[in-house]
Amino acid sequence: MLDDRSLKKIKEISSKYKSKVYFDHSLKSHTTIMVGGSALLWHEPVSLEELREMREFLEHTGIAVFVIGNGSNVLIPDEGVNRAVVSLSNKNFRGVSSCGLKLTAGAGAKLSEIISYCSENSLSGFEGMVGIPATLGGALRINASHKCAISDYLESVKLLLKNGKVESVGKKDIKFGYRYSSIDKGAVIVEAVFSLGKDRPAVIKERAREYFTEKLAKQPLEKNTLGCVFKNFSDGKRSSGELIDKAGLKGAAFGDAYVSEKHANFIVNRKCANAKDVINLIKHVREKVEEKFAVKLETEIEII
Ligand SMILES: Cc1cc2nc3c(=O)[nH]c(=O)nc-3n(C[C@H](O)[C@H](O)[C@H](O)COP(=O)(O)OP(=O)(O)OC[C@H]3O[C@@H](n4cnc5c(N)ncnc54)[C@H](O)[C@@H]3O)c2cc1C
Repeated sequence: MLDDRSLKKIKEISSKYKSKVYFDHSLKSHTTIMVGGSALLWHEPVSLEELREMREFLEHTGIAVFVIGNGSNVLIPDEGVNRAVVSLSNKNFRGVSSCGLKLTAGAGAKLSEIISYCSENSLSGFEGMVGIPATLGGALRINASHKCAISDYLESVKLLLKNGKVESVGKKDIKFGYRYSSIDKGAVIVEAVFSLGKDRPAVIKERAREYFTEKLAKQPLEKNTLGCVFKNFSDGKRSSGELIDKAGLKGAAFGDAYVSEKHANFIVNRKCANAKDVINLIKHVREKVEEKFAVKLETEIEII
């Protein structure tokens, strides 16, 4: 619950910058699996200055801030989150531009928007990320990858640090691994610069189409999911999906949440699943796989 003084100050900041702020705001439609409760506060800042001012006030007041991207890797509990959720969905955080082979993009830009820009401007490399329904910020946070990793072409990342300072960090100063980046958890990713290759637009588009068709043949991209629920193993010999399939769990369900028949590492919200259904199914899958293969599956998705 927000006290009157905090409410007043939050409204004051957002009206000063003419931004959007909503209280007790449902997060369901802000996630790709479409489950979950409300956030104490939803904020769409219009500028870095506003983001800095609002975050400083909220944290000073003891309200934790969570930055959401496209919600394609986060599971929100049914009871909601007692936090302020910040979305960089304003156009000022979504710009994409280039100079020669250097591309600069705002953290709120969707990867699909960046891929379109690249293919129209003869810039190659980014098409390897096709089919990942992420924002640039969310993809960098976990080093999302498909045909390539988001870090492969990265040059630098602009961050709003916890202390309010804005810093540009070179790739060499960030560790990237499988679904991992060492970018400070308290920092907001604001923008990034990439060094890309050059190719003809038609060639880039064709490659993107090919990669997407391949992904779509294996994964239920058309359904409400969070992508792969569990991480794969570092030995690369077997995948989590393979073990879940061999444990006979395709189609296993709790409420309206079920294990995809197309790809066993995907949990689908058929229509009206809630977060509890998804969490129960995750537990069930984990237990069955451990019973059968003596292996503990680690979640890739983030349960808030
Ligand atoms: C159909 C489908 C297919 C998928 N395929 C793939 C795939 O091939 N490869 C892959 O790696 N993943 C895949 N995913 C998973 C998901 O898209 C990635 O994990 C992605 O990186 C999440 O990005 P997001 O913008 O949705 O972030 P969110 O899910 O909203 O957030 C993820 C994390 O990033 C943080 N974050 C978001 N924005 C910022 C920011 N600006 N600054 C700081 N932190 C931030 C959040 O706080 C959170 O901790 C898939 C998901 C779906 C639904």
